[in-house]
Amino acid sequence: MPSGAAEPATGKEGPVRLRVTGSGGIWDCQQMAGTAYDCRPIGETGPADSSGSIVTPGLFDIQVNGFAGVDFNNADIEPTDMDRALCRLAACGVTRVLPTLITAFDDELAARLEALDRAVSQSTLGPLMVPGYHLEGPFLSPRDGCAGCHPAKAMGPARAELVERLTGLARRPILMVTMAPEQEGVPDLMARLARQGIACAIGHSNATREQIALAIEKGARVSTHLGNGLPHMIARTDNPLFSQLSRDELMAGFIADGIHIHPDYLKLFLRAKGLERAFLVTDAVAAAGPGMGEGIYQLGTASIERQADGTVRIPGSTYLAGSSATMDQMVRNMEKWLGMGLPDILRLTLDNPFRAAFGRPFDLPRDHGGGFVHWQRDDAGELRVRCTRIGDHQVLPDGSFLLHTPARSSSAAR
Ligand SMILES: [Zn+2]
Repeated sequence: MPSGAAEPATGKEGPVRLRVTGSGGIWDCQQMAGTAYDCRPIGETGPADSSGSIVTPGLFDIQVNGFAGVDFNNADIEPTDMDRALCRLAACGVTRVLPTLITAFDDELAARLEALDRAVSQSTLGPLMVPGYHLEGPFLSPRDGCAGCHPAKAMGPARAELVERLTGLARRPILMVTMAPEQEGVPDLMARLARQGIACAIGHSNATREQIALAIEKGARVSTHLGNGLPHMIARTDNPLFSQLSRDELMAGFIADGIHIHPDYLKLFLRAKGLERAFLVTDAVAAAGPGMGEGIYQLGTASIERQADGTVRIPGSTYLAGSSATMDQMVRNMEKWLGMGLPDILRLTLDNPFRAAFGRPFDLPRDHGGGFVHWQRDDAGELRVRCTRIGDHQVLPDGSFLLHTPARSSSAAR
């Protein structure tokens, strides 16, 4: 039997051996060196070990604009900023993330991506936690309500050359591009990007049913934060929300913070889409994270305001500007609002976002990335992150500790 399965390490421990709960069963995972683990299936059920702790693979958030005071859209972002944000994300159970760049004029977008990629590359956690990027814009709908907090003036017809320019600037790939199918040239760009293996997503769009059908035909396979980035008033049934909910070719991301979508409608949307095609994203901005208070933060060049109830808006506007949500809170929300079990929650927060980003199923032995989360239930019975491992690093719940244990040789691991 696995030994010491769920105890967070002290930095002086021997070989790490974990009993890991995945969406499809339990795994015995033994660290070989760094992020390399040998994982073998040991059963279908039994979520916890005798201490009451539960270990899961780290969660994957494919839409994060910033976190813990750090704006990923800031062209002056530094590696230390990146480590601070990633450390806090890890403390919330996330070990893999797609930093997301929103709409900006070409040169600004290029500068932001270059700075972001440099910060990721030169940080400690970036190379472990960031496999690539999500480009949300600028080929979106500038229409009121669709644009949301994105600058409508920087939106426009699809241009493959811009995506190529951006791709050439970063060491990591652009894994996902969110576009509005009704923008000129978007269907053809979707076909081109899909051929390159880039995930094409529909978002910030008021596309008709026919335009959505064409986008799917060309290669769209994801809906970005479905239920948001829409006009406040839409047709009763023939609308872009229902059109996307009804198409099984599209996986859909939802912001499960209770603000972007009321829990009752989240339940409805999840039923419509099915657990096999839905996933959760935070769409977090710099104002997100434990301990972040009310006040003004930045998203690119825009000021955004976190309000007392956790909503984030452009000051004076009715439009939401990302969220202040954390992924561990969304895990608790799914348990509390929908009575969902951890294996199903892992489908929404790891397996399905992985498939949306990479176009293939999550395979625990191959894809864990050395990221594991130790959860424990508090006195109220709610799951709390106790410790997060990423390779030889460990992050504690306050996110302020990044301990590094020396890499072990593979001969010492068994
Ligand atoms: Zn958005």
